[in-house]
Amino acid sequence: MFVGKIIAIANQKGGVGKTTTCVNLAASMAATRRKVLVIDLDPQGNATMASGIDKYDVERTAYELLVDEIPAKDVIITETAGGYHLVAANQDVTAAEIRLLEFFAREIRLRNALAAIRDQYDYIFIDCPPSLNLLTVNAMSAADSVIVPMQCEYFALEGLTALVDTISKLVAVVNPDLKIEGILRTMFDHRNRLSNDVSDQLKQHFGDKVYRTVIPRNVRLAEAPSFGTPAMYYDKSSVGAKAYLALAGEILRREEQAAHASV
Ligand code: ATP
Ligand code: MG
Repeated sequence: MFVGKIIAIANQKGGVGKTTTCVNLAASMAATRRKVLVIDLDPQGNATMASGIDKYDVERTAYELLVDEIPAKDVIITETAGGYHLVAANQDVTAAEIRLLEFFAREIRLRNALAAIRDQYDYIFIDCPPSLNLLTVNAMSAADSVIVPMQCEYFALEGLTALVDTISKLVAVVNPDLKIEGILRTMFDHRNRLSNDVSDQLKQHFGDKVYRTVIPRNVRLAEAPSFGTPAMYYDKSSVGAKAYLALAGEILRREEQAAHASV
């Protein structure tokens, strides 16, 4: 059977590497023969485009899933450049955020929509928009855990505090089981003194929650989306592609250790 784990990739700060992490981690997991679904919940549709799907030419998106209650199996695109399945997003999803306000239990629309299909996947990764809006709340209400990508720069820790507060509120109100899966240092430059300082502080505050794997700044990761593919199918020897494979390995190892510990 499949693991059925749902992981939201969130940080309300823009441009920290959420989408890059989502598509490259998903592709890496899929390459290890896990069955993976990516849900693009950002109206920018970057994860959709980076998966080789034209966001202007999709029949259905997360809008249909959240607003029209079209069953997930009828919204999912099964052929992507990353070897995973995809629920696409485009501008329509902006309207979904507003339409959601009409509904009772508006925070758990995504969770309900995924209930029927989650056990058909090992991992479901949700790419969140750069805000703590109702779409992100839906992602976190549906999720078992959250991966927080962050750049190690000044003020990064402050943003993280706001995110941790939101997670705590969601735990209290809609999703008592929600956990921080891990904090991922992205676009990292070892030569930068500030990055190393922030990284040390991060480890002090969050300990083991900080992934050992660090994603370096790597131009291949930035180029790959314009070719509509995750980095591992654009340049598999690039340090960026290898870093995301290492991250997938770290997550799988952690999961195995947790499983052993609980036996
Ligand atoms: P948004 O908040 O707008 O959704 P995001 O958090 O999803 O942004 P990305 O789109 O993944 O961030 O990354 C922002 C930009 O940085 C993109 O142009 C991306 O290609 C680039 N980028 C991400 N990670 C790396 C990296 N490790 N090395 C170099 N460039 C990167
Ligand atoms: Mg993004």
